[in-house]
Amino acid sequence: MLNVDDISARYGRVPALNGVSLQVNPGELLAIVGPNGAGKTTLAKCIAGFVTPTHGTISLDGQRISNQRPDKLVRNGVRLVLEGHRVFPELTVHENLRLGRLALSDAAQFPQRLEDVLDLFPILRERLRQPARELSGGQQQLLALAQAFIGEPQLLMCDEPSLGVAQRLIPEILTALRRMAERGTRVIVIEQVLTPPLSIADQVIVLNRGTVIARGTPGDFPRERLQELFLGTT
Ligand code: ATP
Repeated sequence: MLNVDDISARYGRVPALNGVSLQVNPGELLAIVGPNGAGKTTLAKCIAGFVTPTHGTISLDGQRISNQRPDKLVRNGVRLVLEGHRVFPELTVHENLRLGRLALSDAAQFPQRLEDVLDLFPILRERLRQPARELSGGQQQLLALAQAFIGEPQLLMCDEPSLGVAQRLIPEILTALRRMAERGTRVIVIEQVLTPPLSIADQVIVLNRGTVIARGTPGDFPRERLQELFLGTT
């Protein structure tokens, strides 16, 4: 289980997180939603080791990870795909995917992992030899996810996967995330709004000003309730 226990974080004097706790089991998809500046990215960066919490602990399968560096966390199966789908535009789709092989404990597994991932993302199979820059924004986001997934992550976090992606492709990206969870990965999806396709989440956490202000299942958050929460009128 991923267990985030009462973590706080700040940038100098600016508080960013205040006593946040959450749990994600293997195979579960957690959506973290909240307005601009709520602390969502900071939370993901704490889990990935880029920001050190000032308080609290983070553990993965009983092992404390909140004191580990990002490179060690990658080897322990923690992946963060930041917003803006970071892929190498001049490299082909295949070359981008080969970079994911660096995270595999046994590089000889790469051909099998590549096959598995291409089954999950058939559009990438059709484009293997094309430079990534020729893909649409949504396809580049899928490629970034596929690259992260090839290394068999224990936990995959994706910050605003719908940013810069054509509306009609968003369900495809969320379906890919759901399928990754179904294969046993813990998945965390961060979004500013609870878009209808995020109903694929098992749990939802609403963050505002660094604090969890509500948690539940997607059904607990009709649009009006989120508007109330975000406006702080509840
Ligand atoms: P967004 O949806 O805009 O990405 P967010 O919910 O991810 O927002 P964070 O980016 O985690 O929120 O920001 C939380 C708080 O920390 C905000 O007040 C923000 O201004 C501040 N902050 C974030 N990054 C830094 C930084 N590198 N230096 C100083 N303050 C920062």
